[in-house]
Amino acid sequence: MIKTPEFDSELHRTALVQLDSVAARLQLDPNIHERLRYPRRALVVSVPVLMDSGRTDVFIGFRVHHSTALGPTKGGLRYDADVNLGEVTALSMLMSWKCALMGLPYGGAKGGVRCSPRDMSAREREHLTRRYTAEIILMIGPDLDIPAPDLGTDEQTMAWMMDTYSMTQGKTVPGVVTGKPLIVGGSAGRREATGRGIVYVLYQATKSLGQELRGKTVVVQGFGNVGSVAARVLWRDGCVIAGVADFTGAIWNPHGIDIRQLDAHVAENGSVAGFPGTDPLSNEELLQQPCDILVPAAVGSVIHAKNADRIKAHIVAEGANGPTTPEADTILRERGVTVIPDILCNAGGVVVSYFEWVQGLQYYFWKESEITSRLQELMVRAFTHVWNTARKNGVDLRTAALMEGIRRVADAHVIRGLYP
Ligand code: NAD
Repeated sequence: MIKTPEFDSELHRTALVQLDSVAARLQLDPNIHERLRYPRRALVVSVPVLMDSGRTDVFIGFRVHHSTALGPTKGGLRYDADVNLGEVTALSMLMSWKCALMGLPYGGAKGGVRCSPRDMSAREREHLTRRYTAEIILMIGPDLDIPAPDLGTDEQTMAWMMDTYSMTQGKTVPGVVTGKPLIVGGSAGRREATGRGIVYVLYQATKSLGQELRGKTVVVQGFGNVGSVAARVLWRDGCVIAGVADFTGAIWNPHGIDIRQLDAHVAENGSVAGFPGTDPLSNEELLQQPCDILVPAAVGSVIHAKNADRIKAHIVAEGANGPTTPEADTILRERGVTVIPDILCNAGGVVVSYFEWVQGLQYYFWKESEITSRLQELMVRAFTHVWNTARKNGVDLRTAALMEGIRRVADAHVIRGLYP
């Protein structure tokens, strides 16, 4: 196999290890396997922004399409200080497997800009987003590649992207991004989709394990789009949310945290820190607290070889992308911890993004109740599929989910053949 130093990163090495081991298990044609190891195309751009200080800063951005075998590509846009080409490439590969696993007509993509969005003003973020969009414009479009929010980006970012793209086309093109505000063609239920999807999957997982979700003690790392919604829905459904963390640190109360009050506290103070009635902990300490379910919903590689044997949760529901390293995965498996893998657990976001895209293309919008019931149907169907594949093959849920996703992408490559 050819070495690809340009894509090297911890997450990319992990993604390749996963692909290689599943390819062997599926006895994939080596020629197809080789093609799946590389992104179809990757673009690196520089993004100059006039900062409020009067200085021009240049940021580095990326957009990567992994596979287009199943359709246009789909994947989030991440603003984070650690973004690099290898990470974005790995995440685009995971998106290919995720879309295929969920039965969506998409290939995988991902984008990112290396920046610290929390240290930038709204004006600076807007200029960054518009210039980045202009730089990657040849890579995106409603039937080409459709970005969505991810770490450090939100509905507002998507509105700026949609507006910038639309201005270059001379018409409004809602289908170029998903995760937009409702007023400009967003979908009811998109903001809550990933968090809700995690909860639907947790209902199925606990049921399959002969348990009940209600009453379980839960720890959630990350209180952004994914973590806050997952925490709120689990709390509303009768779970005890004993710990929550964000980038400032963690809070802990084994008797439970009132998530509605925590929402108000975060809206006022910008972080979970200092929420009354809780003890402060570090993020690392929080991950190791006693609980039934741990939902890592912030950044990657937080469960690793050095802390995996101290994780006390019986179920890890991966809200974030790549929160568990392969070494940690092995340790958790040997200890009997059920890990619900990212490509299944957090797929609610891309599922409702798909609904938003379909609605945008048809200019016909569905009620929130239709969105949530269709989301539930797809999440339950995917979980059942993965659970049955795992049992049939005697493998863990991650391997089973990857087997399903990778097999479908490989099948599409086989049937389409190799151009020219
Ligand atoms: P977000 O920016 O809305 O929220 C991120 C949260 O994590 C914030 O509370 C932030 O304070 C916290 N955080 C950031 N760095 C941290 C650190 N080093 N330690 C602890 N906490 C930290 O992002 P999001 O959209 O909620 O995405 C979170 C994760 O979920 C990412 O891994 C993303 O790729 C994944 N994901 C998001 C979606 C989606 O629809 N937004 C879909 C699938 C997967």
